[in-house]
Amino acid sequence: MAIIDLLSASPAFLVTICVVLGLLVGSFLNVVVYRLPIMLQRDWKQQCCEYLEIENCVPDSNESSAKFATFNLRKPDSHCPNCNHKIKPWENIPVLSYLFLGGKCSNCKMSISLRYPSVELINGLLSGLVAYTFGASLLTLALLILAWSLVALTLIDFDHQLLPDDITIPLLWLGLLVNAVDLGFDVSLQDAVIGAIAGYLVLWSFYWLFKLATGKEGMGYGDFKLLAALGAWMGWQSLLPIIILSSLVGAILGLLMIVAMGRDKSVPMPFGPFLAGAGFIMLIWGPQVSTFYLNTVAG
Ligand SMILES: [Zn+2]
Repeated sequence: MAIIDLLSASPAFLVTICVVLGLLVGSFLNVVVYRLPIMLQRDWKQQCCEYLEIENCVPDSNESSAKFATFNLRKPDSHCPNCNHKIKPWENIPVLSYLFLGGKCSNCKMSISLRYPSVELINGLLSGLVAYTFGASLLTLALLILAWSLVALTLIDFDHQLLPDDITIPLLWLGLLVNAVDLGFDVSLQDAVIGAIAGYLVLWSFYWLFKLATGKEGMGYGDFKLLAALGAWMGWQSLLPIIILSSLVGAILGLLMIVAMGRDKSVPMPFGPFLAGAGFIMLIWGPQVSTFYLNTVAG
């Protein structure tokens, strides 16, 4: 394909294009992260009302969704939460618009959260890293979808302690497909299928052992599905490093937050962000992590 030849000829051009693409997708991810949980909660509430035969069911007490009859990823148009000013296209350019506007709404001057441009920037950089590592190929395109999904899952789990099936399950199928059609990822379909099953079962077993021992729930079913998806993409061999990495980082950050920020110990910490982060590290630096482990720990 001509376009792949063109992109292969200049790695810098490829990385630049993917960073820009990542910035644009990052802007969309901000919308998904904010709206998808509200859409799901509305849907669940609606189902409960129908099941319990409650009439005049209020879809959601959340102000932004109650105000609008239609609420999905496209509608209503993006607006300032303070003054309802509709965001114009030139105010919606990733990162740049935030800088132009000085981090404030053009109409009412209320501050825009630094989180929006940060998510765009991080997503752009991660996308560039994927392109730099895997070059111009269909595989890179597939891995970009994986990376973007991990960013969305991280933020939604951080905000709501929720890993939506709408993202984890398609991600699992896509991982199996990528390895079934052999896009050059070096994971056999057999390793991918065992990875998906083992990923789910390992955390499912931890969950029940922990629950039987302490009576508490240490993680959620979304975590099992996320690790299953990572196993489907990277094979069962990646599961142990992902679990070790995510537990280490989770334990260190959890302790820091309790000690330094006075976080309440009894408030559950989402595990999804650590799984997603460890998954991304294994995606980019998998061979280096394995070598490091063999040389130091097992060495
Ligand atoms: Zn405003």
